[in-house]
Amino acid sequence: MIDTTTAPASASTPLTAFDRCDACGAQAYVRVELALGEFLFCGHHAAKHAEKLRPEAVHWHDERSKLYAGDARTAPVGADS
Ligand SMILES: [Zn+2]
Repeated sequence: MIDTTTAPASASTPLTAFDRCDACGAQAYVRVELALGEFLFCGHHAAKHAEKLRPEAVHWHDERSKLYAGDARTAPVGADS
């Protein structure tokens, strides 16, 4: 339930190789925007924190589909778009 009509412009900005996971420093694939700030997470930490942060997230920008493209071994966890 992401309301794109009220999301800030930054919400749709693609993540780049310069965006790093706040937890481990790996390349970030998820940007979680909260009322008080934002977090960047790699696929691993996005999955780890999704349960807690999803209900509080103003916007959940998820590019983990990039990670899983062409990799049938790993199923997306909680990915929706
Ligand atoms: Zn991480």
